[in-house]
Amino acid sequence: MSLRASSNEAGVYRLVLIGAPASGKGSQAKLLAKKMGIYHLSTGAVIREHMRRGTELGERCREMMNEARLVPDEIVMEVVKSELEDDHVGYVLDGFPRTVDQAEMLDDWLGERGEKLNRVISLEVPKEELEQRVQSRVVCLDCGHPFQLGGRVNSVDEPCPECGGKLGQRSDDTIETFHQRYREFEELTIPVIDYYRRQGLLQTVDGGRKRDEVYGEIEKILDLQITRS
Ligand code: AMP
Repeated sequence: MSLRASSNEAGVYRLVLIGAPASGKGSQAKLLAKKMGIYHLSTGAVIREHMRRGTELGERCREMMNEARLVPDEIVMEVVKSELEDDHVGYVLDGFPRTVDQAEMLDDWLGERGEKLNRVISLEVPKEELEQRVQSRVVCLDCGHPFQLGGRVNSVDEPCPECGGKLGQRSDDTIETFHQRYREFEELTIPVIDYYRRQGLLQTVDGGRKRDEVYGEIEKILDLQITRS
């Protein structure tokens, strides 16, 4: 059974992956994008790229990004609109929306275009497991792919298994930053999960397992949508 059937009638997939910091949403979004041929939009990665290029938007975000604080909803929405304006065969949003205001802005913008999200997947992982992951997380400094030490890589000195680039640690990957982000997740993003649950779009997935097992369940969920619709 193909994943194609989980798109809407126009054949376009609009998915949101939501979860606490280090819940694995970046890895799962990348896998989904690769296997389904859809666009992976990580708002954090786009903003980091703006900062690297020194654009005006990047400069407006720099201080907040360095302190791991959320950037204002209007700025992130600007990023999302400009990234999604072009017609994609579909997309998976990773790291957005993170507040109910952002979710409402997204709904309004999609509504103006006569579009809707297909599915929102929430990755659930116990806090203790997240803390452990943060402490063993490395990312590729070239392609941004995240890895767990002891998983596909054993040391930060190995080349990136995805692109051969150099691995390193994200400057905002400290346990203190994690706690700040987790509080923010509880306060601002859990209400977003409830928002989508009320809309009947939400599916929860146990994200505390191996990457491929989690992905298998996400695939099943998207397939389930086929048999139901
Ligand atoms: P991430 O890569 O998703 O962990 O995001 C890194 C940083 O980008 C966050 O700490 C925020 O400063 C900013 N950011 C990314 N997405 C959003 C969002 N949806 N709302 C507000 N700030 C965001």
